[in-house]
Amino acid sequence: MDLEYKKQNSWKVLDDSQLEELETLSKDYMNFLDKAKTERLATDEIIRRAKDHGFLDLNEQEEIKAGDKLYQINHNKSLALFVIGEDDLENGMNIVGSHIDSPRLDLKPNPMYEEGEMAYFKTHYYGGVKKYHWTNMPLALCGVAYDKDGNKIEINIGNNEDEPVFYISELLIHLSKDLSQKKAYEVIEAEQLNIIIGSKPLEEEKENPIKKHILKLINEKYNLKEEDFLIAEIEAVPAQNAREVGFDRSMIAAHGHDDRVCSFASLSAILKIDNPKKTTVSLFMDKEEIGSTGNTGMESQFFENAVMEVLDKKEGFDYLKFKRSLSNSKVLSADVVCAYDPNFKDAYEITNTALVSHGVTIAKYTGSGGKGGSNDANSEYLNEVRNAFNKDKVNWQVGELGKTDQGGGGTIAYILAKYGMQVVDCGTQMLSMHAPVELLSKTDFYETYRAYKSFFKNI
Ligand code: MN
Ligand code: MN
Repeated sequence: MDLEYKKQNSWKVLDDSQLEELETLSKDYMNFLDKAKTERLATDEIIRRAKDHGFLDLNEQEEIKAGDKLYQINHNKSLALFVIGEDDLENGMNIVGSHIDSPRLDLKPNPMYEEGEMAYFKTHYYGGVKKYHWTNMPLALCGVAYDKDGNKIEINIGNNEDEPVFYISELLIHLSKDLSQKKAYEVIEAEQLNIIIGSKPLEEEKENPIKKHILKLINEKYNLKEEDFLIAEIEAVPAQNAREVGFDRSMIAAHGHDDRVCSFASLSAILKIDNPKKTTVSLFMDKEEIGSTGNTGMESQFFENAVMEVLDKKEGFDYLKFKRSLSNSKVLSADVVCAYDPNFKDAYEITNTALVSHGVTIAKYTGSGGKGGSNDANSEYLNEVRNAFNKDKVNWQVGELGKTDQGGGGTIAYILAKYGMQVVDCGTQMLSMHAPVELLSKTDFYETYRAYKSFFKNI
């Protein structure tokens, strides 16, 4: 009898038909990443795919019944998908909750200026970034603005090969004697994250001829004036699209794996669910990277309101049933976790760190220090999740966020746990988390998808 626990490498245990499905899904995931570089674009793409699979707008339904597939959009930046179950809602839902925002650079409200014969956009970083990462690379701009007539203008430039990109310059090594003495976090400071947007002057202009030229081009293309930027929301993201990595093409490098990998896995899983016993939910939230705040973050009442609507239209509104539907729910908090990186051994405790290609990762707790701020799932629920995964032969492992007292981080888990729901963090491990371009194994994405599908079916 073998009593010892051993991790398994997914490449060795997946069968041929699974490996084929893995490649198809990975291609689709890379396609999704290229289209969904911001929370708004991710919302659009998820809705498009959900509609293709028969999902209808919850707001437009008078009555709903078991088997119905519904979506609820929240201010174009977060959303929920529901597949209505046979059971009464008060018995609880099965929820996979991920987020679709990623660390990036946002344009400042008054972004444009000219200096040194170049025009610039000033930025304000969003989420946890190493600022020096964002220099010396091609950037794309994505977002929305309103022209003076109130038309919504979608901006998406730099993601296609034939479009120009944008760039943040950095000091040449030849002159970096002083700079190289600084600490990593000070090498590039926030106010140096200024994006070059042009350098050609408008001949007839004496003052700010380059800025005025750029404004003219922007006006011709988008019908926008400088004042319109004051109320716009525009994000700078890496222009690079998702690429396969390695001679064996076993990994994917892309912007926004955190947390679009879990989002896409959750989406792919719920699109396969028909007529479930319990109501099945995929949540795609915004603002996780800055604390789940605002009306599109998990701390908002968006999800509560959506559940009230579902209950009202399915069974009639009843406050006690509403509270029970929340407290009896089971959740996978679908977010990424760190993978062991042998280049930085000292930051990890290898026994409790997820290994690349060794399956989806269950993180009992996140947080920092003495588990500060974490949800800390209980053994009763972990047992249920394990049994579900084992039933479908999902390859899974456990992981912490690195060595104790080395740092930490959080997810939306604790917010859903407040309702009394059973919650555990479960997602894909990755390298270079929060870098502009992050890295993960195709198998770990695939096992995450299999894990969420197994959770929806077996819990
Ligand atoms: Mn995340
Ligand atoms: Mn993150």
